[in-house]
Amino acid sequence: MDRTDVLIVGTGPAGLAAAFEISSRAPRLTVAMIDREKFSTGGLRNDCKMNFTYPIGFPVDVWTEDLAKAYLARTEEFLKPPIMDRKNVSVYARRAEKIGVRLLEIRQAHLGTDGGLALIKDLTAELMRRGVAISLGENLLGIDAASRVATTDRRELSWGALVVAPGRSGFSFVQSLLTTLGVPFTDNVVDIGVRVETREGNYQIVKDYYDPKFIFPEKTRTFCTNSRTARVVQEKYVTDDGRAYYSVNGHAYADEKMRNGLANFAMLRTVEFTEPLASGQRFAEMLGIQAALMGGGRPIMQRIGDFRLGKRSKLSGFSGDLYDFEPTLASATPGDISLAAPSKILRAIWKSLKALDTIVPGVLHPSTIMYYPEIKLYANRPTFADGSFRVADRVWMIGDGAGTSRGITAAWSSGLRAADGIMDALRD
Ligand SMILES: Cc1cc2nc3c(=O)[nH]c(=O)nc-3n(C[C@H](O)[C@H](O)[C@H](O)COP(=O)(O)OP(=O)(O)OC[C@H]3O[C@@H](n4cnc5c(N)ncnc54)[C@H](O)[C@@H]3O)c2cc1C
Repeated sequence: MDRTDVLIVGTGPAGLAAAFEISSRAPRLTVAMIDREKFSTGGLRNDCKMNFTYPIGFPVDVWTEDLAKAYLARTEEFLKPPIMDRKNVSVYARRAEKIGVRLLEIRQAHLGTDGGLALIKDLTAELMRRGVAISLGENLLGIDAASRVATTDRRELSWGALVVAPGRSGFSFVQSLLTTLGVPFTDNVVDIGVRVETREGNYQIVKDYYDPKFIFPEKTRTFCTNSRTARVVQEKYVTDDGRAYYSVNGHAYADEKMRNGLANFAMLRTVEFTEPLASGQRFAEMLGIQAALMGGGRPIMQRIGDFRLGKRSKLSGFSGDLYDFEPTLASATPGDISLAAPSKILRAIWKSLKALDTIVPGVLHPSTIMYYPEIKLYANRPTFADGSFRVADRVWMIGDGAGTSRGITAAWSSGLRAADGIMDALRD
């Protein structure tokens, strides 16, 4: 059986940060990373916007502002990304304030999907130079915590410390491991919404502020704005009983030569179940499946002009019409979002979009497209045994799948925080 001092599952930012920290502080420890994908490394591949302001990306129940700031400083010091300028923010912020909306000012860097790939290449080359064993296309199937043995689809591997960082796509997997370990958890929170796509000219703020974060009443916010060379994409999810559904998302390339003049962003509403406590994941899955049913197995898209008239969109409204841009996710099905989305969620989103149109006039141009559903599953809430995200003896769970982050910089910070705990544990 293979043996390693530290086994890291997932080569996203959370896993990478843990690997870098451990390999630099304890070069004599053996570190192995596995990832079920054939290409490294998780969510750094998509757009790679990095936010360096609390609480963006940091779940506040596990991160205080002071703690997050300290780890963000270490993250920035290591990654050294070029921070972008923001202009005219106070004009937008004043307009927002007048109608009860907050615009957060965030320190941001944007590498783009192309820049993210280059970063991944550099980071993995450096880890390999340090002797970290990276095995791609290897899937963790389960663990035996008592004997400290992991079973993958290739081998059995014993560990001294195990870091599980499988990202959002590992949301259910984290739950099954927590159940095996007997660690209580909840997942009663989920973000549901739409992705809005429009011409940059209709959402002028992106020229001044790459990823503006507006916070609206009714737990609604803008999230993950992309522009210049922006695309809407779909991610496939499969439920435990084998049913497939899609969530939309967005990303952009930094390469100016590919510029398409479009912008996209998510408008998300947070849903939190109290009594009776329901699973956010199950709720989101049901909405995803319902949308897939109405969209013939694909996400739904609707022009704002049709939505305002209470009409479904048709294929003829997406090409060759007066509207002057075509959807970047052309495979989405033209339809009626209000038939698929719960009214409380859609009402909050539409109210917020109207407020946004007052702050940045033009975003609700009739040609603007809404894609549904955009679902964010990052609200697993394990009962952590200590402040380093340890869930059991010598087992740590971090990143979006474990609910310690909602973005790249918080995921990286989570990896550092776990590594600090591991260094203490392995010293004992
Ligand atoms: C399209 C898109 C765009 C995004 N844009 C941004 C952005 O611009 N800025 C931002 O801050 N955030 C963005 N995000 C979110 C960001 O990617 C995540 O917050 C971040 O990557 C989470 O890091 P992580 O390490 O927890 O997980 P991930 O980066 O998801 O990495 C988890 C890794 O674990 C692997 N894995 C899962 N299960 C197993 C298993 N059983 N065995 C082995 N390996 C496994 C997966 O293959 C994956 O590579 C975006 C996400 C998407 C999908």
